[in-house]
Amino acid sequence: MYHFVRDLRHSRYPAIKGLSIEDFRGQIEYVRRHFCPIGVEELLAALRPHGEPLPPRAILLTFDDGYRDHFDNVLPILVANGLTGCFFPPAKAVTEHEVLDVNKIHFVLAVVPDKTRVLTSLFRMVDEARGEFDLREREDYERELAHPGRYDTAEVILIKRLLQRDLPEALRKRMTAELFKQYVTTDEGAFSQELYMGIGDLRRMRDAGMWIGSHGYDHYWLDSLDSPSQEREIDRSLAFLAAVGCDSGYWVIGYPYGAYDDSLLRILREKGCRAGFTTEVRTADIDRDDPLTLPRIDTNDLPKRGDATPNEWTMQVPPGGPVA
Ligand SMILES: [Zn+2]
Repeated sequence: MYHFVRDLRHSRYPAIKGLSIEDFRGQIEYVRRHFCPIGVEELLAALRPHGEPLPPRAILLTFDDGYRDHFDNVLPILVANGLTGCFFPPAKAVTEHEVLDVNKIHFVLAVVPDKTRVLTSLFRMVDEARGEFDLREREDYERELAHPGRYDTAEVILIKRLLQRDLPEALRKRMTAELFKQYVTTDEGAFSQELYMGIGDLRRMRDAGMWIGSHGYDHYWLDSLDSPSQEREIDRSLAFLAAVGCDSGYWVIGYPYGAYDDSLLRILREKGCRAGFTTEVRTADIDRDDPLTLPRIDTNDLPKRGDATPNEWTMQVPPGGPVA
């Protein structure tokens, strides 16, 4: 699972969390040396009853969030190596030239080194909104949400959860927009077109043999929506895939934030979704895992150099010697 792949050090936002282009190139070398890269078609063929089995040490490369990085930096390297990838662009970011709230939060965090400043602004806005919304005390939010994640401090997780999920939607959208305007830019349209691929870029990706999958429309936590809203999100993302020129009857999904529930899985089965990718961290076993809830490993779990020895994740892969 990849997100940003860019020349971070020379970019305007060096604190954004991502992989440098050099490290990506090195990791592709590593992947080719120790694994057998496959495309989505091979995965879907293997998932069919009595389907063609996967090669040993199969690996599928996935790229979330539709960043222009994927067109500018990833595509040429994949093509040069004869590889394909699976790309999950959130439809709204591409079609409406908005910056997704999830990315607004990334960039606010990247430009403000002192996270207590962000928390001060944030809880000031929470206090101002108490007459309008039913909100809990700061201490309650902290107790429940401020726990460090795999890559984030407790403060950063608190900011992300409040703004991504736990405050009322109308309020968190307003607050995220205000923080983005205050700390990052007032020209959201220009920022969006710099950040995400356009629909023409996605068509060219598809023409180059890349797979484009659903990543929802608005990049919601889909498990936090009721069933009709989940269905609307999926339908709108499928209309978008059709506009890109993909087969919206034979498709896969990458869940925003890895979030899904039974109601969503029912909808996906009805609509012919063939595979779903979560953010559960482990290697997938397609004989045992539900095709709609496949785990993934993060780029940070693999070495960034072709000459590195396999780490604990690659050690879990059944033995079979280097492939490429
Ligand atoms: Zn995403």
